[in-house]
Amino acid sequence: AHYKQVLSNGTGRFARDTVAAARRGVEQLNMWTQFIVMALAFATLVMGVALWRALSRHLERSEAAFMQAQNEIRDLSANDALTGVANRRAFRELLDATLTKPNAKVAVLLIDIDRFKPINDRHGHLAGDLVLKEATIRIQQMLRAGQVLARYGGDEFAVLVTHSAADEPVERLGRRIAYWLSLPMTFDDLTVQTSACVGIAMSPLHGAADEELLHKAEVALYRAKEGGRGQCCIYDATMDGATDERMQLQNELEGAIASGEIESFFQPFVDLKSNTISGFEILCRWKHPRRGLLSPDVFIDLAEEADLMNELTMCVLRSACRTARDLPPHLVLALNVAPQQIQDEWLVQKILAVLTETGVAPGRFEVELTESALISDLAAAKHVIMSLKNVGIAVSLDDFGTGYSSLAYLSELSFDKLKIDRSFIQALHERDESAKIVNAIIGLGRSLGVPTVAEGVETEDDAEFLKDIGCTTAQGYLYAPPMDAAGLAQFMATTKLATAPSEMPSRLQKPRPARALPAPKTNERTA
Ligand code: C2E
Ligand code: CA
Ligand code: CA
Repeated sequence: AHYKQVLSNGTGRFARDTVAAARRGVEQLNMWTQFIVMALAFATLVMGVALWRALSRHLERSEAAFMQAQNEIRDLSANDALTGVANRRAFRELLDATLTKPNAKVAVLLIDIDRFKPINDRHGHLAGDLVLKEATIRIQQMLRAGQVLARYGGDEFAVLVTHSAADEPVERLGRRIAYWLSLPMTFDDLTVQTSACVGIAMSPLHGAADEELLHKAEVALYRAKEGGRGQCCIYDATMDGATDERMQLQNELEGAIASGEIESFFQPFVDLKSNTISGFEILCRWKHPRRGLLSPDVFIDLAEEADLMNELTMCVLRSACRTARDLPPHLVLALNVAPQQIQDEWLVQKILAVLTETGVAPGRFEVELTESALISDLAAAKHVIMSLKNVGIAVSLDDFGTGYSSLAYLSELSFDKLKIDRSFIQALHERDESAKIVNAIIGLGRSLGVPTVAEGVETEDDAEFLKDIGCTTAQGYLYAPPMDAAGLAQFMATTKLATAPSEMPSRLQKPRPARALPAPKTNERTA
């Protein structure tokens, strides 16, 4: 029993001690666990916060990027990429939305750069882009609140004017736009002479639907183009038929050139001192199968617009060469070359090819260049003039006094003739200044040693006056109108003017030798 007692006590103590030890152990373990759990919890919290922050930062960035992309997409679909202004679609939407408002007063201005295609072709697309950007800036500078500019097509712009109270300010805006776009644009060492036409239609006056309004602005634009470069027109109902006609003519022109419907007419130059014919200016006419004889004023600008001037000139030259073979060879023939053609590097070769093909000596030819050709690109003009002279073709400055060419050009470019514009000759008796200008040009010609030609001489009095003040040559209805080949033959047979070379041939009458061209097959009649 004693040992039993001892064993029982020992076991009890052992058990108590063990329990106490275990409890202590557990207590200690609890502290660590709590510590670790707390540490873990804290670490998780810190990491969570960091992660949350990083995530939200990332989210913010993505959201901004998303918004930006969304804006860019919206801009791209509403704005023109090159100029940054509204595009055609956005313009149509805006016009539509504006027209649906009650009592909407709206004007649409369509603006089209004249002869943009040649600018693009000759100077490259980069230059074309610069012209469009510059045009955008110029137009935008003229607009006020409530006026929206859009790029409507390749070289076409549109302006939407809302709340337009009266017609007059819209027309004034159109004219100002046409004016500002007619001032030369200079980019580094390139100067481009541009101009633009404007067509205007207004709501409710011309229609309430967007389609109708745009069509009528287009019709007005077409009419403006018909008036020449830099014009502005407001739509009116009488334009409809005429515009269709012009569109039709434009469509027919290419075929007409190809089939030889464009013909050369000839108008004599008369040497004032000797009363002798010294040559002819070649002036084109379109013998239209249905419309009859059309003047170049009707179709030259259509040809320029469609970039067909080269084809037209060569067609005119070819037909003139055929007639030239029947004329005494001392008579010169003067060919008009359009300003845009001086940009053509192959112009002189193309002319020579026709002369060779038809067997006419280059020395019988002159090329008439207008002042505007010099202004649009002086370097190109210089190059063409030099090349023409090198092959024996003389060069005249046409319409002298109407452009803005500086006198420096005259001495620099050494023209063979100065042609005084017919507006001065026709105003000789009406305005004192005209007589003074004509006198000054003749004096200038004399001091430069360059013969002067007076265009549009209609009366004996004018011819007499011009002769007295030293003008060399005259051209006009006084002597003969432009005539076709048959009319020319009859004129040569019946004219009282001398057709043989005068005793003292002027520079114009003397055939110049060709220097660079291989001798053409001469099937020309000798004098
Ligand atoms: P331009 O070179 O100034 O030609 C002279 C214009 O004056 C011609 O008009 C001629 O018919 C007209 N004219 C001649 N004498 C008189 C006169 O006494 N009184 C009046 N009132 N007018 C007279 P046209 O033939 O209608 O030609 C107009 C313009 O068209 C020309 O003006 C010229 O710039 C252009 N042109 C004509 N043919 C050609 C061509 O083959 N190529 C190019 N590029 N242009 C041409
Ligand atoms: Ca001319
Ligand atoms: Ca002229």
